[in-house]
Amino acid sequence: MTVVINMRDGLDERKIRIAARFILEEKLVAFPTETVYGLGADALNASAVKRIFEAKGRPADNPLIIHIADFNDLKRLAREIPEEARLLAEKFWPGPLTLVLPRSEEVPDVTTGGLDTVAVRMPAHPIALSLIRASTPVAAPSANISGRPSPTLAEHVIDDFYGRIEAIIDGGETKVGVESTVIDLTSERPTLLRPGGLPLEEIENVIGEVEIHPAVKGKLVDIARAPGMKYRHYSPNAQVVVVEGPRERVRAKIRELVKEYRSEGLRVGVMATEETEADAFFHLGKTTEEVARNLFKALRELDRRGVDVIIGEGIEEKGLGLAVMNRLRKAAGYRIVRA
Ligand code: AMP
Ligand code: MG
Repeated sequence: MTVVINMRDGLDERKIRIAARFILEEKLVAFPTETVYGLGADALNASAVKRIFEAKGRPADNPLIIHIADFNDLKRLAREIPEEARLLAEKFWPGPLTLVLPRSEEVPDVTTGGLDTVAVRMPAHPIALSLIRASTPVAAPSANISGRPSPTLAEHVIDDFYGRIEAIIDGGETKVGVESTVIDLTSERPTLLRPGGLPLEEIENVIGEVEIHPAVKGKLVDIARAPGMKYRHYSPNAQVVVVEGPRERVRAKIRELVKEYRSEGLRVGVMATEETEADAFFHLGKTTEEVARNLFKALRELDRRGVDVIIGEGIEEKGLGLAVMNRLRKAAGYRIVRA
């Protein structure tokens, strides 16, 4: 049984108390944050957290992010709080920034995927903050079945989890649209583990140069040389292809690919920043912020429209563009066409 709790018109403290009680009773509650919807459970209760992994079909060694509503909670979760963590939290919390720190005894193994480190963030969303304040620190990965595009609407969560979790709080569409930026502060130098809703440039303005983990850019392989790659993440059912290069050439290449795929009898969807003739089209918007906000919705929507192939327009890797391209390339299983 899943209760859908409507908070589209804003925060309702009475409903929050009901959802908070669920969390404290080892139940799963999906809730909106400013990035994407999270699938929440009591972060300090091992059996509650285990249910998140089961519901998502998530590998046990993929750690979760703990969401807090008060900086003081960080002292319970982290053994040590380096100066950079204080500076970044001061400047960007609440916000789409996750910090990886040495973990305290209080955090169960399941929550950190067995690691000696813990990932923590303070979300900038009134519903998320109230839910955490009324309950406890909440472990919450994105509220999608493992491997599917992250949810930016309650409808996406309903599609993946209706009947499988206790509650879904509907707070309307999420603002940022991509997950948080993850920075590891436990290695020699601050390291970007995942680009996300807070641009790297803003972080570097506060703590100086940040190293980029090699996994961030992924393996960039030419489509022709990698026919059988099967790595999938953020993936709809349709096959995704991403076109990268100078803008005008990208647009021309997309039009060319549409014709090519259609001549093979395939139904083609396009997600781009400019209207394009195809069997289904999703306008990603004009600014990088709009593209980030629409990215996951576009993948789910084009899938729903039953296309065989989705062609995504690559954008510049500046600001939120780094997070967008990281997600898009993964969704495409690194099938990248150079324009
Ligand atoms: P999700 O909540 O599904 O967006 O995934 C959370 C992500 O946070 C993981 O896939 C990791 O990239 C990162 N993460 C969480 N905890 C840790 C940790 N202790 N060390 C490194 N990365 C982490
Ligand atoms: Mg996720």
